[in-house]
Formats: sequence, C-alpha cells, structure tokens
Amino acid sequence: MKVNAELVLKLRNQNSWTQEELAIACGLNLKTIQRIEKKASASLQSKKALASVFNINIQDLDYEEVQMKPCSECKSDRIYQYKKHTEIGGFGGELLPGLASGMFSLAKFLPVICLDCGHIRFFASKEARDKLEGSDDWTQI
Ligand SMILES: [Zn+2]
Repeated sequence: MKVNAELVLKLRNQNSWTQEELAIACGLNLKTIQRIEKKASASLQSKKALASVFNINIQDLDYEEVQMKPCSECKSDRIYQYKKHTEIGGFGGELLPGLASGMFSLAKFLPVICLDCGHIRFFASKEARDKLEGSDDWTQI
C-alpha cells in the first residue's frame, strides 16, 4: 500500500536518525526502510511500526494526493502543514456534514499555512474524503 514517503523522511530527519537507526527503532530491516522511502510503498505492518515509533496516527502516513504546494494565493513554496490531522473544535461536523467518522467524532482536517502570506488552507482527511463518493449529502460537480 502507498505511504507518504516524504513524511517518513521528514520525521526521520527531525529525529536525526539514519535509515539504519530508524530500522532498529521500529524493528524493521534496513531494506524495508529503504524501500519505503524510495518507492513510497509499505505493508500495513510496516506502517503500524512507523506510526508507533514516530508517535503519529497510522492514517497520517497515508499518501496525500492533494496538492499543497505552491501556495494558491502567492505561489510561495514555503508551505507548512500540521503533522497530524486535527479536529477543529465543534466545526468539523458543520463544515463537512456527513463525513465525520463515528457517531460522536468530528471530521478531521489538515491545516496548511503559507509562511510568506499567511494564507491558511484546510484539507479534509483521507478518511473523510473516502466517504464523499458514497455520500447522499455530497455531489460531484
Ligand atoms: Zn502564500
């Protein structure tokens, strides 16, 4: 399955780990880490191990197909995204009706901010996007 290799690399660098050190930390072999970073493909087992060692949700490792760079306002490449999908207190259900997961939980967003102009964009999580096609509340335009 696909994995966000860019995020794996970023988190590894933030920890100042070599590929070998990451392999040891998450109990995978070096070849697996190399394949994940190079081919952006990982087994569910590997994704679980990585999510655990980086202390993130396994969904955060899902490959994000949405285009976040450059900034849609000023075309800057200096874009920052929050490391995890986050719930926006109280608004999730209203902004993305019908796409929240679970009866009481809110739809999750990934905030992305442009360093240069401050433009903020919110991306719906893959989990929420996966529900769009089968939803009675949303229609493709
Ligand atoms: Zn901008």
